[in-house]
Amino acid sequence: MGFGDYYGFPEYVSVAKRRARAQQRLKALVRKGRKPSPIVIEGRTIATTFWGKAWCEYVEGHAALVSRLERGRSYVKNGLVIDLEVSKGRVQALVSGTDLYEVEMEIAPLPEPRWKAVRRHCGGQIGTLVELLSGRFSSAVMEVLSHREKGLFPAKGEMVLRCSCPDGEWVCKHVAAVVYGVGARLDHAPELLFTLRGVDGADLIAEAGKVGQSAAAQPSAKGLAAGQLEDIFGIEIETRATKRASRKTVAGGVNAKRRVSAGRGS
Ligand SMILES: [Zn+2]
Repeated sequence: MGFGDYYGFPEYVSVAKRRARAQQRLKALVRKGRKPSPIVIEGRTIATTFWGKAWCEYVEGHAALVSRLERGRSYVKNGLVIDLEVSKGRVQALVSGTDLYEVEMEIAPLPEPRWKAVRRHCGGQIGTLVELLSGRFSSAVMEVLSHREKGLFPAKGEMVLRCSCPDGEWVCKHVAAVVYGVGARLDHAPELLFTLRGVDGADLIAEAGKVGQSAAAQPSAKGLAAGQLEDIFGIEIETRATKRASRKTVAGGVNAKRRVSAGRGS
C-alpha cells in the first residue's frame, strides 16, 4: 500500500505500468478474436502531416476540451488508446486507464449547404485527390477547409462525446485522448476525415483532375488507387486500409465493444 492509498487518494501508477497494462489489454483483445487498431505515436508529436495537424489545431481551439487536453495528450502518447475506429459520423475507441473504458464520439454529418459552400469556394483549385489528402493546396483553400464554423471540422453542437468511466466531467481525459487519437489517425489516413463527415472528398477535385485518373481508380477517397496511397503515405496506410476492410467482416464486433468497461477510478 502506498501513501496515496493511506491518505485516501488514488494510487499513483507509473507511466511504465500504465503502458504495460495497456499492452496486456491489447493482447487480451486480440486473444478474444478482435482486431484492434491502436494509436501508436512515434516521436514527440502527435501529428506531422497536414490533416493530422489541422485536426489537432482544431481540437486545441475547442473551449470545452481545453482543461483535459494535457492529460489526453499524455494518454495517447503512452499508447493507452488501444483501439480506435473511424466510421461515418462516429469514432469508437477503447482507452486503458484503471479499467478499460469505452469512448464514443458522435459527429453529425456535414450539412449539405455547408458542403456545397465548401465545394463552391474550392471550385477548380484542388487538382487531384493526392493533393487534397496530402494538403497540397493554396492557403485560401486551406482556410476554407479548416474554417471553424464553415469548414470540414465539427462546428459547435455537431459533436457528442461519451465515456464509460465514472468521471463526472463532460470531457474526461479518456475522451481527450481519443480526440487527439483521431488527429494521429488522420495523420496516416486523412481520407477518414471525409468518411467521418459523410462526404466524398473527390467532390472537391477539379473536373480535369478526375478525368486524369486511371479508369480503374474510383473517383472517391475510399477508392484511391493503392499505388497513389503508397506514394504519399508509404506502405503503412495500405495495411491499415486492409485491416479496416477485414474488421468490417467481424459481425457484432461493434456491439461487443459496448460491454467492456465499468469500474472505479480512472
Ligand atoms: Zn473517461
